[in-house]
Amino acid sequence: MKAVYFHHHGGPEVLAFGDLPEPSPGPGQVLVHLRAAALNRLDLFTREGWPGLKLEMPHIPGADGAGEIAALGEGVLDRKVGERVVLNSNLGCGRCPACLMGRDNLCRDWHLLGETLRGTYAEYVVVPSANAYPMPESFDPAAAAACGLVYLTAWHSLITRGALQPGETVLIVGASGGVNTASIQIAKHIGARVIVVGSGKAKLALAESLGAEVMIDRSQEENWSKAVFQATDRRGAEVVVDNVGSSTLPLSLRAAAKGGRILTVGNTAGPKVEIDNRFIFGKHLSILGSTMGTRADFAAVMTLVFAGKLKPVLDRSYPLAEARQAQERLAAGEQLGKITLVI
Ligand code: ZN
Repeated sequence: MKAVYFHHHGGPEVLAFGDLPEPSPGPGQVLVHLRAAALNRLDLFTREGWPGLKLEMPHIPGADGAGEIAALGEGVLDRKVGERVVLNSNLGCGRCPACLMGRDNLCRDWHLLGETLRGTYAEYVVVPSANAYPMPESFDPAAAAACGLVYLTAWHSLITRGALQPGETVLIVGASGGVNTASIQIAKHIGARVIVVGSGKAKLALAESLGAEVMIDRSQEENWSKAVFQATDRRGAEVVVDNVGSSTLPLSLRAAAKGGRILTVGNTAGPKVEIDNRFIFGKHLSILGSTMGTRADFAAVMTLVFAGKLKPVLDRSYPLAEARQAQERLAAGEQLGKITLVI
């Protein structure tokens, strides 16, 4: 099969395009013929590698994908060859107490497609049957692939962890990343009011087009927590989504209302943060971390996507053979929305 892969970690130049053997589905698994994949920042982190990461080489990147079932593994009786599916890249073991409680994102033997296992930059991939989620006939595979990980992550953070309520004010720090645009849409769908802090006109215009009510340009307002207070009748935001981290979290704590929840699923600007603890106890703040989400979250959010209630923002699409150029665009931060690969 055609695939994009690397034999050792490094920059975009380590990505190769060529032929690898087609995988075959084991018991409980299905083979999926992919039609599209979507890029995530973790594809870049995995390509670059980190201490302790041990991959079976050559490694195929890619967490997100959609296509149709091409073959069934032993014991898979309830699926059909040809069934259209979108992949849930979060692979719990399905047997441990966490998985049996429906909290598969806490599984001790948890894997992520494209990170710890071979991923979706390929014509074929194998996944557990339960991770191939049915996709309507007419739905664009690239749009479905673009939704998988970011909508799952945003939904788990805002709804499952953050318990966002209608009428609450959400401050989203960062305007254009995939999780942030998904968060804006989910917050609007719930009936929350959305304030976005971002930099650059195009990114803020995108946030506005998704329904955000207040746009604050942080290249113009260095202390943007003040602008948040002005926009909230001096209360602050009940929920703050901060996936930027080191450069923004101190102001996010300031911008939160009393009793506020700070949600984080990542740190695009770096992991180490100095926190003024007085904000946490003085304002009764909760800091809620999560990563990815559960199968139930995936089903909930994809139901809304397929019903047209949440619409992925799509940036450019590249042919599979040009995955390197696609990753370079992502690394440069030039994209507005999700970059996809057509397979
Ligand atoms: Zn498990």
